[in-house]
Amino acid sequence: ATVAHDASCIFCKIIKGEIPSFKLIETPLTYSFLDIEPTSKGHVLIIPKYHGAKLHNLPDEYLADILPVTKKLVKALNLEIDSPEGTGYNVLQNNGRIAHQVVDHVHFHLIPKPDEKSGLI
Ligand code: 5GP
Ligand code: ZN
Repeated sequence: ATVAHDASCIFCKIIKGEIPSFKLIETPLTYSFLDIEPTSKGHVLIIPKYHGAKLHNLPDEYLADILPVTKKLVKALNLEIDSPEGTGYNVLQNNGRIAHQVVDHVHFHLIPKPDEKSGLI
């Protein structure tokens, strides 16, 4: 795999364990962990183990690994839309300040949309 790393990047530091995180799933090309300021309970970030600021900077092999991991997380968090009833989620990925990106290492947000029936709130 192609490797890119930025010693000053907080998400590169999280991948290396230099900054603590609540890890959920790690694969050879990805790392996923709980967001420190969750929009909802179970808000996860899925990141490539490759330092690229925006989506178009990533090699395809890293991109290809992200959605299958996201799907595993959806199952692990019990967010399948048809069970439990009333549960959903958003997958969000921001590129550039004007698009609300704050951390310049590509990340996908998985944001549960629980309601009072979901058991997540
Ligand atoms: P963005 O606006 O760039 O798409 O989102 C960046 C996300 O990273 C935010 O939701 C923010 O809460 C999260 N975040 C920033 N720094 C840290 C950190 O050190 N640890 C964790 N777990 N999440 C972080
Ligand atoms: Zn990085």
